[in-house]
Amino acid sequence: MSRRTTVESQKGVLDQWDREHSWHPFAQMSEYCALPQVQVERAQGCWLWDVEGRRYLDGNASIWTNVHGHNDPDLNAALLEQASKVAHSTYLGLSHPAGAELGRRLVELSPPGLQRVMFSDNGSNAIEIALKQSFQFWQLQGESDRVLAVGMEDAYHGDTFGTMAVGDSPGFHGRFSRWCFESRVFERPRDESVAEARRSLRSLEAVLEAEQGKVACVVLEPWVQGAAGMRLQARGFVKSLEALCRRFGAHLILDEVFVGFGRMGNFFVCRQEGVEPDFLCLAKGLSAGYLPLAATLTRVEIYEAFLGTMDSGRAFIHGHTFTGNPLAAAVALASIQKLERLIESGELEQWIASFGRQVREAFEGHANVSELRVRGMAAAVDLCPAEGESEWSVNDRVGMQVCVAARSEGVLLRPLRDSLLIVPPLVISEEEIAFLIRGILSAIDRVIKERIR
Ligand SMILES: *Cc1c(COP(=O)(O)O)cnc(C)c1O
Repeated sequence: MSRRTTVESQKGVLDQWDREHSWHPFAQMSEYCALPQVQVERAQGCWLWDVEGRRYLDGNASIWTNVHGHNDPDLNAALLEQASKVAHSTYLGLSHPAGAELGRRLVELSPPGLQRVMFSDNGSNAIEIALKQSFQFWQLQGESDRVLAVGMEDAYHGDTFGTMAVGDSPGFHGRFSRWCFESRVFERPRDESVAEARRSLRSLEAVLEAEQGKVACVVLEPWVQGAAGMRLQARGFVKSLEALCRRFGAHLILDEVFVGFGRMGNFFVCRQEGVEPDFLCLAKGLSAGYLPLAATLTRVEIYEAFLGTMDSGRAFIHGHTFTGNPLAAAVALASIQKLERLIESGELEQWIASFGRQVREAFEGHANVSELRVRGMAAAVDLCPAEGESEWSVNDRVGMQVCVAARSEGVLLRPLRDSLLIVPPLVISEEEIAFLIRGILSAIDRVIKERIR
């Protein structure tokens, strides 16, 4: 058998196994199984190769996680060095050097009041921990009426029950709402204008006033609601929201799972906004797209409320088997070191500016783009029929078709309905951004032409 037929049949077998047994996240599996599959085998920098040797630019940073590119020599070295010592040892009752050092680093990078870190292994859990710590804190303080969590319209904080309860993504979670605990929602800004920021803050204020003394915490994705389609807030919005939380005595939980670790140009948005949240939730870029890792940082005063004798019942009884996994922690440490250089040298800022410029040039005024939203190294391009073209229905799946067409241009992307979310690894070069954009533009063109024909 020639090498080629071996590879092809290997691909065929893998596709078959995948179609027969895998249940992919967020997928309508009847659509997934009908589309051509991609079996990613290896990667380098911003590029992924499939088992047949085809190369794709990783246009969504492997679902918003990748920071320094794939197969990075420094991160690999950190991973291998840790693997040669110990791959996993529990954080339940024991510690390890990578975890202790990472906790220290995260505290150094965060606003001064945040001094305690609880590790977990995904973004949803990072939020769950913040919610439970907030709820328990108010019980311990004797303020047992503070039971409500407040979230922003269209928020996405994960897919576990607690995060669904404080999220507002009916498309994702509506079906499960009867099993979610009660919460309140305030209106999000429609755009990044100051007027919209004010309107949203008034909506939050109304909720906090109506529920005086009953709100435990307000949960927010600062600056950008990623999963809602890169919905933006004015700069300064988070700072004003913090002031409202303080006025009404509610905790502020910042979900920086998406915006943290360089995505918005610095380590955390709370630093850029001069905000000191009560809880800071981190995941995705924390371990640079290598391994599952999350962290929830908390203020000293909150932590101290949990201290006491064994029979006080004050301890926070929560944990996960792979909490603070040493391999993930070692990679996170190496990634933070590299990221610090990129931020301090001003390189990241330049890359982000170049990304914004190129994306605006390509999509602003495009006949099939109704709206473009860009902040940091993230963009959403809302596709629409051009004037005179017939409307698109949900089942037309134009966004998905564009992403599938982009594959033959060497670009991997995921749509959100008919929006294209562009979230490349932070280290993407100017030439690679140009390649990415050319691929997307020609995919849009092909799909639209095909539709009008
Ligand atoms: C991805 C994401 C989450 C959930 O993280 P998982 O690791 O997928 O559980 C929570 N919040 C935000 C803002 C996210 O982008």
